[in-house]
Amino acid sequence: MTQQLSTAAVDPRHHQGVVVRDRHYIDGQWTAPSGQGHIDVIDATTGEVMARVPEGAPEDVDAAVAAAAAAFPAWSALPLEDRAAVCRQIADGLNARGAEIAEFISRELGTPHVLAVAVQTGTPLTTFASMADFGPELSLEEEIGGTTVVKEAIGVVGAMTPWNFPLHQVAAKVAPALLTGCTVVLKPSEVCPMSAFVLAEVIDELGLPPGVFNLVTGYGPVVGEAIAAHPDVDMVSLTGSTRAGRRVGELAAQTVKRVTLELGGKGANVLLDDVDGADLQAAVGGALGNCYFNAGQACAALTRLVVPRSRLADVERLAVAAAESFVPGDPFDPATTVGPLVSDVQRERVREYISKGIEEGAWLLTGGVEPPDGLDQGYFVRPTVFTDVDPRSVIAQEEIFGPVLVIIPYDDEDHAVEIANGTAYGLTSGVWSTDRDRAAAFARRMRTGVVFINGATLNPLAPFGGYKQSGNGRELGRLAIDEFLEVKAVY
Ligand code: NAD
Repeated sequence: MTQQLSTAAVDPRHHQGVVVRDRHYIDGQWTAPSGQGHIDVIDATTGEVMARVPEGAPEDVDAAVAAAAAAFPAWSALPLEDRAAVCRQIADGLNARGAEIAEFISRELGTPHVLAVAVQTGTPLTTFASMADFGPELSLEEEIGGTTVVKEAIGVVGAMTPWNFPLHQVAAKVAPALLTGCTVVLKPSEVCPMSAFVLAEVIDELGLPPGVFNLVTGYGPVVGEAIAAHPDVDMVSLTGSTRAGRRVGELAAQTVKRVTLELGGKGANVLLDDVDGADLQAAVGGALGNCYFNAGQACAALTRLVVPRSRLADVERLAVAAAESFVPGDPFDPATTVGPLVSDVQRERVREYISKGIEEGAWLLTGGVEPPDGLDQGYFVRPTVFTDVDPRSVIAQEEIFGPVLVIIPYDDEDHAVEIANGTAYGLTSGVWSTDRDRAAAFARRMRTGVVFINGATLNPLAPFGGYKQSGNGRELGRLAIDEFLEVKAVY
């Protein structure tokens, strides 16, 4: 689908006060929460309250799950084409509300507006539209040795999503769930929930059968855990931290639910030794662009640049120049290339990692713990580069989730593979070479679910997910659909 939105920066702070959403969406109705509490949504650039949403409770989850379970038989019995048509209508509805979605995300998360339009809003539209396209091609029945094997919707899906690509991660779960005939209880991030309300409004306007889609906002340890533990939820799908993934897995195990987890990453970007001259400049520039995208708040980010020791000095010089060319600032300023981090908590976490790197003896090439000049308000962190980093050190092992690149030298290709694969994570990695066959052979040695060669960008139709502690299962594209299906052999 072609995104029709304008990328012109309009600062909505001038015309919006505090936006209040005081109801959950349950059983086809905007429903008053069972409790009184609310959660403030903070503008990442000003630090001010921009919106309020309900602080849900387990009783709200019970009501939403009951509605989803009641809706499941009729929804899953509809012809596939009808549900594919719904996915298409949702894509159209989101497209019509795209400007509002991009504005909300630029404010609550801090993504530069041009990227909020193209990526934060464009990708979820593509996901819903792609599910609509897959619908007619899906084959849910085959004969194997005289036995009929059918694939059927798994049931009620509990979806929990993080703040860094708030609508994309929602779409990656809700679109295939609805297409396959599942019903959904969505708990979006409490930090960036606003685009999920727009989705619920779009779905409400379409008049889907009550209970097919339900939205309950609240905190992970309360609403998220109630969903993960609920006996009438058949599958939980969480995108978030490895910590939350472990907890959800533990709770879901009590009722033997299906669990899909999209968790953290610590991607390595390996420059092979044939990359030199203009190619080296392009590779380092690409590496910085990747690492600082969304202010480094991307699970797919390649945050470790692994380079031949013989090229270290050249890479350092190029990395400093590239890092210092980024312009931190207000997401609605067209000159801004890196916005604030999402929250005070996230900024402090990133600053602690920068301090830890200095303490551990890594060499700080540029950036640091002080905010960028003139940006004391909001949650800004300087684009930062460390070099000559020990691959076993904390800043080389743990996910920082901010604009911090670590450069690690290697001695030979086996050493580069060992460094690249030497963390608990296995989500994404990258390799650069002037020889595509060599790069492709190296990619086979990476223990990650996604490998980018020479700065390739994410294909939203290819499967996305991790090896090792980056998760279980895959999202996006046709392969993701199987995650939401049960298999039945009929003799
Ligand atoms: P988070 O784990 O704090 O929260 C993610 C979601 O899970 C939120 O909705 C939260 O409320 C909920 N949650 C938290 N604790 C929970 C619990 N005990 N039980 C049930 N639900 C719980 O993560 P975050 O800070 O929102 O997002 C950042 C993390 O997400 C990073 O680690 C990042 O790598 C990861 N992430 C992974 C992917 C991926 O596809 N692999 C994509 C984006 C983000």
